[in-house]
Amino acid sequence: MKSAVVIGSGPNGLAAAITMARRGWEVTVHEAEETVGGGVRSDELTLPGFVHDVCSAIHPLGRDSPFFRDLVLPVEWVQPPAEAAHPLDDGTAVITERSFLETAGRLGEDRAAYVRLVRPVVDGWTRLEPSILGPRPPPPRAIVQGLGVARTGLSSARSLANRFRTKEARALLAGHSAHSMLPLEKRPSGGVGLFLIATAHVYGWGFPRGGSQRLADALVDRLRELGGEIRTGSRVDELPKADVVLADVVPRELLRIAGDRLPARYAHALRRYRYGPGVFKLDWALDGPIPWAAEECRRAATVHIGGSFEELAESERAAWEGRHPERPFVLLAQQSLFDDSRAPPGKHTAWAYCHVPNGSTEDMTGRIEAQVERFAPGFRDLVLARAATAPADFERRNRNIVGGDINGGALDLGQLFFRPVRKLVPYRTPTKGLYMCSSATPPGGGVHGMCGYSAALVALRDDDGSRSHT
Ligand SMILES: Cc1cc2nc3c(=O)[nH]c(=O)nc-3n(C[C@H](O)[C@H](O)[C@H](O)COP(=O)(O)OP(=O)(O)OC[C@H]3O[C@@H](n4cnc5c(N)ncnc54)[C@H](O)[C@@H]3O)c2cc1C
Repeated sequence: MKSAVVIGSGPNGLAAAITMARRGWEVTVHEAEETVGGGVRSDELTLPGFVHDVCSAIHPLGRDSPFFRDLVLPVEWVQPPAEAAHPLDDGTAVITERSFLETAGRLGEDRAAYVRLVRPVVDGWTRLEPSILGPRPPPPRAIVQGLGVARTGLSSARSLANRFRTKEARALLAGHSAHSMLPLEKRPSGGVGLFLIATAHVYGWGFPRGGSQRLADALVDRLRELGGEIRTGSRVDELPKADVVLADVVPRELLRIAGDRLPARYAHALRRYRYGPGVFKLDWALDGPIPWAAEECRRAATVHIGGSFEELAESERAAWEGRHPERPFVLLAQQSLFDDSRAPPGKHTAWAYCHVPNGSTEDMTGRIEAQVERFAPGFRDLVLARAATAPADFERRNRNIVGGDINGGALDLGQLFFRPVRKLVPYRTPTKGLYMCSSATPPGGGVHGMCGYSAALVALRDDDGSRSHT
């Protein structure tokens, strides 16, 4: 039986492991930490009985990416009534509804502009999906289809926002685009925003009941059912012996593990890989639900905080340029409103982060809480306990989160399709049998398993090819 070793048990490592095991390979996963899941873990970070998501919280692609769709895991998905809310200073909120027509219908004179922007992506999603998510490489037909929306898809948020007149539509676009961790003037921040808007309308922004960890545990159970093995507390320091090694690590860690086994030119390219801004995160145990001035914010688990397009643009520019925003864009999740397993009766949890310069050591607690208080007066009085996680804490717990970068590397134009190096099939390294499968490969950050799935398919194809030649 052929053997595969997977380094790292993040969603991509587990996706790679399951894909190999499904084809009858003997698979062993080594995880440096004592718990499995990488960016898909939950823990009682504040008080007993309060379940917090250590990293990822909301999973637009956790049920419906091509990999997860095919796997059908026994995870109970919570689907809030709305996908995202964005409060404004006048006490109103703009809402991303599941339906793009309903969303558009609330954007006043920007109704038609929103439909014009979003409809081609939502209606064409089935044909576009292989070019955006993979598995890579996509079939030629999907590439041709993708070219039709490429211009919009590679735009900056500012250029897309220029199609809108209302503060609501501009703010909605800014909130989704700021997930890219790019300045909103930089391409493809608008494309990332548009992609996320499309996932809201196509899949919905759900999350696993009981915490993100449930998704990781379900992946591990499936792997074990297929005969795979997981070793936790097992940090890999040198390249393991196996027919195939799939590394769910970012370039910096691959260089540490296998630097001497990589050709100099490839190692040089990996060294030039760029990491983006970091995040500073807070988790709260709360005495009640967040008292939003705009009542509608209670309909969504995800809330984009920071006000207008211009304010968000300033915040994202600051983090990119190495400054700490005074009024940061805050991405907040309030899962306990829709999932009562997250906190004791009557109590709540909330999860939030803002973007900071890579490797920042600044404490952003006050600035994040001031932003929440701005749109939810009385919020601070509800805080029973808080846990802060700074970039260095993230990195200590997961070597993939370099300087706090949660996307496994900057998502700028140069590293969007060709990451970590400029190759059509970037999963394969020049070292025979060694593949990269982390979010430092396409399609990048997020819980979708598509980096791992694509890398494993390439490894299996290579193996088939070598067998047919011998
Ligand atoms: C704070 C935060 C919030 C996020 N929010 C969301 C969200 O809401 N929705 C979403 O979709 N995505 C979110 N993400 C991003 C998402 O979690 C990641 O993109 C995803 O987890 C990447 O998966 P991965 O398998 O590539 O790597 P990871 O999940 O990072 O897993 C890599 C694993 O490899 C292990 N490892 C590293 N080096 C070694 C070694 N030498 N030996 C053995 N093991 C090793 C690590 O310990 C880790 O467990 C968030 C991330 C963070 C940090």
